[in-house]
Amino acid sequence: METLKDQLNARVTAYDHWATRRRYGADGHNNCRLWVLACMDERLPVDEALGIHVDTPAGGGDAHCFRNAGGIVTDDAIRSAMLTCNFFGTKEIVIVQHTQCGMLSANAADMERMLQEKGIDTNALTLDPTLPELKLDKGNFAKWIGMMDDVDESCMKTVEIFRNHPLIPKDVVVSGWVWEVETRRLRAPTRDMEKRARTDVTAAQFGVKLKQPARWR
Ligand SMILES: [Zn+2]
Repeated sequence: METLKDQLNARVTAYDHWATRRRYGADGHNNCRLWVLACMDERLPVDEALGIHVDTPAGGGDAHCFRNAGGIVTDDAIRSAMLTCNFFGTKEIVIVQHTQCGMLSANAADMERMLQEKGIDTNALTLDPTLPELKLDKGNFAKWIGMMDDVDESCMKTVEIFRNHPLIPKDVVVSGWVWEVETRRLRAPTRDMEKRARTDVTAAQFGVKLKQPARWR
């Protein structure tokens, strides 16, 4: 018969392994061997959208989760994905962007102008004071902001970039999804206008007239 003592011993051992996971490299992977890239928006509930528990309860922890404005590729998204996929046992990347995203709501060139009007020299910035070597060429600040024309297109391109990046191992499975804020449903990114009809997915729907500075060629 298994006693409560046996159960508690097993639970304490399992918790100790969980708490010290990062010492075990790939053997200390998170529960789903998963890295999630998602927009920081409060209307995108990552756990509900993906049916996982990113970091709760204690003793659980399905994924490493990286959130930024848009859920787009940035140097730090690549850095974080590189670490978890090469050193912490992660085998899958899931990217979640969403409708009604703030990254659709303005043109990046206008935003740069607004910052300049506040007296900020957008052509002479240290992006990361701990890494002054990380530089933008002059004239590329608006591009760096990463505003989107179309969230479905952005999601598909983001998937491609992670699939093809030299720092991401080729056997890592990469997929991208769009969370519909209006319907609280997850769907695959699509160019099918009918499937997008219930939602706002383009900057034009926010009244943005000019195209964003192109981040992808
Ligand atoms: Zn967003």
